[in-house]
Amino acid sequence: METTIMTATKVHNFSAGPSILPQEVLQKAAEACTNFAGTNLSLLEVSHRSKEVVAMADNATALVKELLDLPNDYDVVFLQGGASTQFLMVPFNLLKSKAAYVNTGAWSTKAIKEAKGMGTTEVIASSEDDNFTYIPKGYTIPADTDYLHITSNNTIYGTQYQNFPESNIPLVVDMSSDIFSRQFNPNQFSLIYAGAQKNMGPAGVTLAIIKKGVLGKTERKIPTMLNYQTHIDKESMFNTPPVFAMYVSMLTMEWLKNNGGVAWVEARNKQKADMLYGELDSNPLFVTTVKPEDRSRMNATFLLKDNSLEEEFNKLVKEANISGLKGHRSVGGYRASMYNALPPESVQVLVDVMKEFGRKFG
Ligand SMILES: *Cc1c(COP(=O)(O)O)cnc(C)c1O
Repeated sequence: METTIMTATKVHNFSAGPSILPQEVLQKAAEACTNFAGTNLSLLEVSHRSKEVVAMADNATALVKELLDLPNDYDVVFLQGGASTQFLMVPFNLLKSKAAYVNTGAWSTKAIKEAKGMGTTEVIASSEDDNFTYIPKGYTIPADTDYLHITSNNTIYGTQYQNFPESNIPLVVDMSSDIFSRQFNPNQFSLIYAGAQKNMGPAGVTLAIIKKGVLGKTERKIPTMLNYQTHIDKESMFNTPPVFAMYVSMLTMEWLKNNGGVAWVEARNKQKADMLYGELDSNPLFVTTVKPEDRSRMNATFLLKDNSLEEEFNKLVKEANISGLKGHRSVGGYRASMYNALPPESVQVLVDVMKEFGRKFG
């Protein structure tokens, strides 16, 4: 039987998550469904302990270390349960007497809820007073805290830390929606976690990066699967890992590396964000609500000044084959997610639509 590959209409995918992956990654992933690493077997039907899959997992781990320039005293593991399970695993593994959290939105709020169920949890700063439109700054971090937890990029509200808090307290960060999008100094963090489906790969795998020496202090009995040490000791192979999601993440990391790594994509992400925010700031038909200095380069949130033009704008968006622009159901308005794999051309198409909208209705 002959397979025809249809060249589909180019869709500009601004989805917030799961989100855009590089085309070449999707092609290689499709290939691995029938013939993985030359085995003539599908990656979906072979043992996770086969030498090809173990080599793939090792490569994925090595790529994380290389792309993030991780020092040797960090362990990298691939887990299941999404970033939402990390909300629980972090306090389970690290909270002994007290945890500190900064609340910058819906995901932080969920993380705080899980910590509160585990022990004393102090919210030391929050932007809830202004509907999470800024990143709190200038707060003091109590010295008697086991760790401070932050959310580096607030996927729903469209804010992002430009500088991370500095202290001697172990810093834990949810980087689900901006990992691999910009360079940072990993030494600042004791624990980094990220669900893959925003900027790293498909849904189903969660990355955790743990500094050696931070575990084992709580004296709590941690269930085996929720204990980071279990997965560190078995190099992510304690039980069957999500091999396919790991493979597609590995391919995405290879794509990033081959194009010039995080430095390359950081410059490209900045270029994309500048294009879009530039248009939002100069086009009188749109408003942004986030404090400009805290704007996210990953997720740009915006509203129409005049809601009665919603149908007209949505029509132009649709005609341009732009997908995934709807704001989160809790916020409304629009959200343009510009993750690593989104080409600048797609942002240009959106900007052109906004300009046309401005000419017609401005
Ligand atoms: C999407 C997201 C989550 C939730 O991830 P799941 O993998 O669905 O549990 C957590 N934190 C941030 C910042 C996110 O963007």
